Amino acid sequence: MEIREVKFIKSFVEYEKEMSPLFDENAKQKILFLGRSNVGKSSMINSLMGKKELAFSGAKAGKTRTINIFEVNKKYECLDFPGYWYSIGNKKDKVNLRDMVLAYLEQNYKKNIKAVLIVDGSIWPTVLDEEIYGYLHEKWVDVQVVLNKVDKVNQKELEQIKIKTMSTLMNAHIILYSCKNTKFRVNALKEIFN
Ligand code: GDP
Repeated sequence: MEIREVKFIKSFVEYEKEMSPLFDENAKQKILFLGRSNVGKSSMINSLMGKKELAFSGAKAGKTRTINIFEVNKKYECLDFPGYWYSIGNKKDKVNLRDMVLAYLEQNYKKNIKAVLIVDGSIWPTVLDEEIYGYLHEKWVDVQVVLNKVDKVNQKELEQIKIKTMSTLMNAHIILYSCKNTKFRVNALKEIFN
């Protein structure tokens, strides 16, 4: 797939208040970008879309953690959720972030939704990754797992991480990515926007 147009639509601080009216019945395919903080979610979105500042890193202290919505090729509605289970935030924040995703899935149940779960491909999948995947799986959401940062490991390590990821995340469909190497981009676009 070729990216022809990326249009920033809106940011939301909280899920419940304002988001629902956005969802029209001519349903564009919705693609949720999820991942723990610091897995490179913002870097990956920017690299994938060929835009420098479409997504903002949630890891920086003081940045508001918002859900950012942008439209791709007038056909896809992408939702960039805050770093899931934010690693620095307090307990209250963590629960809120989880609730945002759950509320979204509840209210858009069986709509045209796909989730892109970005995990750090240079380490084993964590318990949190497993937990996020479990939630999505429970809701029957089609999940595309992206192992980002694969430039940080050698081939042998990568094979082990892939095997471990597939066993931890119930034979998830996995693709590889690196924001430091453009060779992964074409395949990632094809798999995510299919
Ligand atoms: P987010 O919190 O998930 O949005 O993560 P960021 O996009 O802010 O990235 C966190 C850190 O990982 C930054 O220092 C990025 O430069 C780095 N990073 C992101 N993607 C890659 C990658 O593919 N390879 C490497 N080596 N570093 C990456």
